[in-house]
Amino acid sequence: MEQVDCVVVGAGVVGLAVARALAMAGREVLVLDAAEGIGTETSSRNSEVIHAGIYYPAGSLQARACVQGRKQLYAYCAERNLPHANCGKLIVATDADEAAKLVSIQARAAVNGVELSLLSQAEALAMEPALHCTAALLSPATGIIDSHAYMLSLQGDAENAGATFVFYTPVLGGRVTNSGIEIECGGAEPMRLSCRTLINCGGLHAPKLAGAIQGMPAQHVPGAWFAKGNYFSLTTKNPFGRLIYPVPVPGGLGTHLTIDLGGQARFGPDVEWVETLDYEVDPKRGESFYASIRRYWPALPDGALAPGYSGIRPKTVPPGAPAQDFAISGPNDHGVPGLVHMFGIESPGLTASLALADHVAERVANG
Ligand SMILES: Cc1cc2nc3c(=O)[nH]c(=O)nc-3n(C[C@H](O)[C@H](O)[C@H](O)COP(=O)(O)OP(=O)(O)OC[C@H]3O[C@@H](n4cnc5c(N)ncnc54)[C@H](O)[C@@H]3O)c2cc1C
Repeated sequence: MEQVDCVVVGAGVVGLAVARALAMAGREVLVLDAAEGIGTETSSRNSEVIHAGIYYPAGSLQARACVQGRKQLYAYCAERNLPHANCGKLIVATDADEAAKLVSIQARAAVNGVELSLLSQAEALAMEPALHCTAALLSPATGIIDSHAYMLSLQGDAENAGATFVFYTPVLGGRVTNSGIEIECGGAEPMRLSCRTLINCGGLHAPKLAGAIQGMPAQHVPGAWFAKGNYFSLTTKNPFGRLIYPVPVPGGLGTHLTIDLGGQARFGPDVEWVETLDYEVDPKRGESFYASIRRYWPALPDGALAPGYSGIRPKTVPPGAPAQDFAISGPNDHGVPGLVHMFGIESPGLTASLALADHVAERVANG
């Protein structure tokens, strides 16, 4: 049976960053992905926002990895000349109640090391004349990125450091042995191989893969729930230069506007719990978007929204449960040497990818 040092399952942004970090640390790395290329699932179905790190609970892995990863990501984009923009974001209050909430959002962000400036109505409107608001917070650290260019660059770095990528190769399961982990791959040429280290970056499928490894304690395998996020594109001219977010509502960030590097705007993602991975966007869901958007952009024309795309959040807790944190589940957690799972890497996984990869490389180096 073929022996490999490290196998990374999944060539989404997290698997790519992990493979890069391990290969650059001198490890032999084989990346296996069921799909035809890099980033075909959640990593190409998101808002492409470089998040500042405002809302995550203080001290959580999400908060730490977002803030650290954001700084690393800006530096990496600058160094590699990758398309990105530090465009900033406004969180807008449209009445007195919401204005009062801005102060607590600002305080919460400060605990995470994120600076936000409180703007008067006049200051906010000077920045974004199409806006309706009573006050706003400016997040200067927020930005946007061409995530595919970023992923290609990560793949290039990993390959330059010796990593090998094999696509069309689903990892079906495995078995913990005395010398490492044996894995079984499907695809056109089914194969089995043995590795010393296995990093499961399977995104939506990570819990399923963990559960298919004999010897991985079942009580350490979380459940998998899917929370789809639907986007609606703006078909008319976008009047905004920054990302616009309402004050969050319980359970979500509200119907916000993000822009891509071409200035094209879309609204969403909303939250729709689903059982299967179906990316079709139901046009009817857009109807409820209009009223929410008009609270901060009253001039949104009738019929200006068209179904866009969707992404699916890999949840490890069911609807209604308290929000999950990112989980890097390694030998210290479940007891299997050489096995690391990345569970529940939803937003801000793109922003946090370089920091998460450093965490994994550190864990692997320390056994
Ligand atoms: C709607 C939405 C909006 C988001 N917006 C943002 C944002 O603006 N900013 C931000 O920072 N983050 C955002 N995120 C989060 C970010 O997109 C994810 O955290 C990130 O893409 C996760 O990457 P990943 O590599 O873990 O997973 P994925 O990109 O899903 O990659 C997993 C890969 O593993 C492969 N795979 C799975 N199982 C197997 C197997 N058994 N064998 C072989 N291959 C396998 C799949 O084919 C896939 O290529 C958003 C997420 C969603 C859903």
